[in-house]
Amino acid sequence: MILDLRTIYVVSAMTCLVLGSVHLAAHHTGRFGRWPAWWGASNLLVGIGSFCVALREVAPSFISVDAGNVMTIVGYVLMVFAVRVFADRPVEKRYCALVVACISLPVLMFTIDPSAVSERLLYVSIVCCVCDLAVLREGVGIFRREKLFSAGLLAWLYVPTAAIFFVRGLLAATGEIGGPNPFGSSMAHGWMAATAVVFMALRSMVIVLMAAERSRNQLIGLAHYDSLTGALNRGGLAQRLSERKTQSLALLAIDIDHFKQLNDLHGHVVGDQMLKLLVQVAESALRPGDLLARLGGDEFLAVLKDVADDGAVGAAERIRLAFASAASQVPGLTIIPTLSIGVAISTPDDGGFERLLQKADEALYYSKRQGRNRVEAWSGREQAA
Ligand code: GH3
Ligand code: MG
Repeated sequence: MILDLRTIYVVSAMTCLVLGSVHLAAHHTGRFGRWPAWWGASNLLVGIGSFCVALREVAPSFISVDAGNVMTIVGYVLMVFAVRVFADRPVEKRYCALVVACISLPVLMFTIDPSAVSERLLYVSIVCCVCDLAVLREGVGIFRREKLFSAGLLAWLYVPTAAIFFVRGLLAATGEIGGPNPFGSSMAHGWMAATAVVFMALRSMVIVLMAAERSRNQLIGLAHYDSLTGALNRGGLAQRLSERKTQSLALLAIDIDHFKQLNDLHGHVVGDQMLKLLVQVAESALRPGDLLARLGGDEFLAVLKDVADDGAVGAAERIRLAFASAASQVPGLTIIPTLSIGVAISTPDDGGFERLLQKADEALYYSKRQGRNRVEAWSGREQAA
């Protein structure tokens, strides 16, 4: 079945114009960052470009050929920049303008002959194919960095269009498509163009999905992590514990000694710095599957899985020593903060997580009473004290 290519160009133009306007309106609200402006501008240019191309033999060739092809190409290049902006990668406006100029010039200079349809098709197809591959690469990067499922989906959506432009370029190079009548009856060209329109519409939906997935992840981050130190908060810890099937646990209740005094002496900024330092030190001493949460103030809890008694006490000692060493290297401190740590290890009859936490707390306060800057494992004597 042969599809009417001019109609497909018009449908493509209308689709892109509507999507571009929606993205620009979204950008205007100021709630979505800068990427919708780039994406919207890209769609609008591709839309106007496609419309101009659809006017072939109706409007003068500087509109249908020169302006049409240049706007389509520029729109396509802007799409690559839009995804880079989404990825929070630097986009230099001057560099962007240079790329756009370098890519558009050949359309005007080398294919000045309106009848050189195959050459123009070949050039535009190559540029679009390269742009698609560039977006595919960015999508994979976002998928890897941010674990956004929808970014993986976006990357996959660019595989068929890159392939379509590649094949279209090949057909143009061999003279199978193009020729004096660009809207002549080529079955392959019509179907490829129709497929490309569908994928262009899908991309715009998927990038909105990406933004939604990212903001959901950011909300989870805000709800589950302590904004000062980046450690889990109580809610985050409860959520992570509920996801685990585990086994035996060891809890390390960690508290900075005389933290109030440090704050009073050096100010809250230095106090905050010490809290961040503690999290850094503890996270590098723990194994990847272990958890670290800030319970409040200067009190933290490390949750170690599948660890023996001496392993848990050893980990606590490593944290205590590493923190003392790191704190001693902070310039200008007149008192070097130290840690007291209480350790409790789960047993089959310990009555669950709450009871284990209580034991770790008791061991912590025992270590405070014993003079601070030490690790104490719960043994039952704490209750007697
Ligand atoms: P101890 O050795 O018994 O643990 O004494 P301490 O001074 O560390 O204990 P206390 O609980 O009295 O003090 C905790 C201090 O932590 C009190 C509060 O001002 C401070 N604090 C709580 N949250 C923050 C914070 O986010 N930043 C800073 N800089 N200080 C905080
Ligand atoms: Mg304290």
